Amino acid sequence: MKYYIINLGCKVNAYEAKVMSDLLTNAGYLKGSIDDADIYIVNTCFVTNVAEHKSLQMIRRVLNKNHKLVIVCGCLSQMKEATVKDLGVDIILGNKDKTKIIDYINNYKQKISKIYDLSNVDFENMQLNNFDKTRAFVKIQDGCNNFCSYCIIPFTRGGLRSKKKEIVLKEITSLVAYGHKEIVLTGIHTGSYTDLNYDFADLLKDIVKIPNLKRLRISSIEITEINDRVLDVIANNDILVDHMHIPLQSGSDTILKLMNRKYDINYFLNKITQIRKIRPNISITTDVIVGFPHETTELFYETISNIKKINFAKLHIFPYSIREGTKASMMDEQVSETVKKERVKILLNLSKELEISYMQQFIGATLDFIPETYKDGYLFGHTGNYLSIKAKGDKKFINQLVKIKIDEIIYPFCLSTICQCIVDFK
Ligand code: SF4
Repeated sequence: MKYYIINLGCKVNAYEAKVMSDLLTNAGYLKGSIDDADIYIVNTCFVTNVAEHKSLQMIRRVLNKNHKLVIVCGCLSQMKEATVKDLGVDIILGNKDKTKIIDYINNYKQKISKIYDLSNVDFENMQLNNFDKTRAFVKIQDGCNNFCSYCIIPFTRGGLRSKKKEIVLKEITSLVAYGHKEIVLTGIHTGSYTDLNYDFADLLKDIVKIPNLKRLRISSIEITEINDRVLDVIANNDILVDHMHIPLQSGSDTILKLMNRKYDINYFLNKITQIRKIRPNISITTDVIVGFPHETTELFYETISNIKKINFAKLHIFPYSIREGTKASMMDEQVSETVKKERVKILLNLSKELEISYMQQFIGATLDFIPETYKDGYLFGHTGNYLSIKAKGDKKFINQLVKIKIDEIIYPFCLSTICQCIVDFK
């Protein structure tokens, strides 16, 4: 039997789709295509109207195929069970039981729907095979208790829950022993990791001690979670890469308050100063939402000014999308779609400027690089500070730690020369 998975949404959803794919492959199912699969899985997203619409479109598309089984899981089905049922889907799951996908398939007799209340569930342990990638992703946490006023995630993913520390450390140790040079810690709200009294800083301290781990990356961290203990680990361990993704969301205190974010611009700026004191060349990237209710032109330009002040290395920009059931959906002074589009465009241009200017600082510098792919005589991959590298070189360098010199910027790449391989070939 052949399977085909359609994944929509965030990195955590992508991780879970890959976990399901590994489980199916390990159980003897073959990977098919959109046209010839027997089993289709749509791992849906609900974070914006567009994501919801695309998820529904994909479900309809696979239902029209000649199929044996259509399974829908993820955030849309967690929130809109009845809608998905009406479409005639065979198995409906939400954001729980993705690891039990084989049992659901093997025991399938009639249409079923299993949507759990996620407000108080345990962490669902899952692990990727990961072995086809340079970088290994480890999901350490799920859910969120923050309830930012625009965000549906606490409803779709439930409350905060974390993987046991022993399991995280064992998983990373075995991934490193297998040959992964870089580990990426991921979750919905990664920095809120906790296992009883053991917190994120404790976890970082233990991970950096794992022998032969070359790079540790945090997929995203809230500014309020970068406490002195986390800063101390960053200051004393260069295994933690020179890159942090810290969501700003807005550069206006008025909007941050309406968003129910737990910081103001002063707090954000002070933390960034602290980080740059210990890591002067760090790349700090961010998420920004534009067109949040009450965002006037003046407040939008306040955001621009603070983005420039913080000097991010790149922006991920999202137009605000109304999500029914959130506080922000009930706010007046909603911003028109046309204005949101204009603001996205302005920030995209700013992001490119910031990115190029960050890259330019490194012309002539020697940096560590792990090549991930090879094409037409060139190696592609990233430095620790997440510069996209294109370097002439041999395939044998893939997944090795090499030193490169940055020669010039041909956006979006830093064109580089390989100087030296600093790790023995496997
Ligand atoms: S911190 Fe805020 S934006 Fe992030 S997942 Fe939680 S509620 Fe959503």
